[in-house]
Amino acid sequence: MTAPRVDIDLAKVEHNARTLVEQLAPKGIRVTGVTKAALAAPSVANAMVRGGVVGLGDARIENLTRLKEGGFAVPITLVRSPMLSQVEMVVRTSDTSLNTEPAVLDALSAAAVAQRTRHAVILMVELGDLREGVSAEHLIHLAASVGRWPGLVLAGIGTNLACQSGIVPDQSKMDELSRLVEQVELACGHPLTIVSGGNSANLEWALTAEDVGRVDELRLGEAILLGVEPLHRRVLQGLHTDAFTLVGELIEVQHKPTQPWGALGQSAFGPPQPRAGTGTIRQGLVAVGRQDVDPDGLVPPDGTTIIGASSDHVVLDLGGHGSVGDELRFGLNYSALVRAMTSPFVAKTERPGPSGGMR
Ligand SMILES: *Cc1c(COP(=O)(O)O)cnc(C)c1O
Repeated sequence: MTAPRVDIDLAKVEHNARTLVEQLAPKGIRVTGVTKAALAAPSVANAMVRGGVVGLGDARIENLTRLKEGGFAVPITLVRSPMLSQVEMVVRTSDTSLNTEPAVLDALSAAAVAQRTRHAVILMVELGDLREGVSAEHLIHLAASVGRWPGLVLAGIGTNLACQSGIVPDQSKMDELSRLVEQVELACGHPLTIVSGGNSANLEWALTAEDVGRVDELRLGEAILLGVEPLHRRVLQGLHTDAFTLVGELIEVQHKPTQPWGALGQSAFGPPQPRAGTGTIRQGLVAVGRQDVDPDGLVPPDGTTIIGASSDHVVLDLGGHGSVGDELRFGLNYSALVRAMTSPFVAKTERPGPSGGMR
């Protein structure tokens, strides 16, 4: 089989989605499955839908187009504030988008009117992580004005924490969001249908909170795809962490000294990482590199150690394992997954889920 490749176990993606959907449902929280780390592969999105997510979200127009062409029955959300230059495509490919800028709302409305439709917006509020979002005061003001745009419907409000600065979405942040819902509903004169509390980093809170307040939706990517929460990268109970594996092929296996020799300059990617140890090792080269994956986010096979990487190689201490031509399987963290899925040099192969094949 071709290498390098990412093996995708769709049954595990489906299982992870279903487990989270079932854990959150009693709390009144629905799940939007975020597909961006899988480049919105229709089979992965389909596994999420089989698992019970009520919507799909992605950050890129190209991926939203793939979802649109997949013909999914669930609503599709752009989870990044639209580019002013892409509003027509946003309205064409998505039912809903996350927003913070009046100029963008104005253009979205015009695009929706031109396409004889109405586009739903979720206004994002800044609660301290310092990525997207308007201030609480600005939010009330903006919410009150959405009704004046003929092409728009105010579907709800949302926030995003943890991704930029690591700010924890805890009870106090979520209480703040719930309080804002009441103020926004007063200002706009109708109830909100979506209160989007955040991403996979919200799970620790959502699964243990006594009272989730008005939060009724989470946008989950990493937890579904990799089975971990992003705050401490702890494995979520009952979830698979190996729905995605990177497979690479060994192209050189040689006994070599542990330490390089000669005068020392920089390596291809800046100052070289010093190597530990003395003596010789069985060194292996795998034909996959920084251009394809984040080597720091790879988990090598048991009994082997990653000692370095360049554009086209991952270098391992193989111990007693592997010979030339063998395939090695690596676990992936979020960073490694995103890059591997995005590299045109990495093939993607899918094992279908039990309840249906690919679409
Ligand atoms: C990527 C993204 C998500 C999903 O984040 P995960 O940590 O993968 O669950 C949710 N919301 C927004 C705004 C995003 O950009």
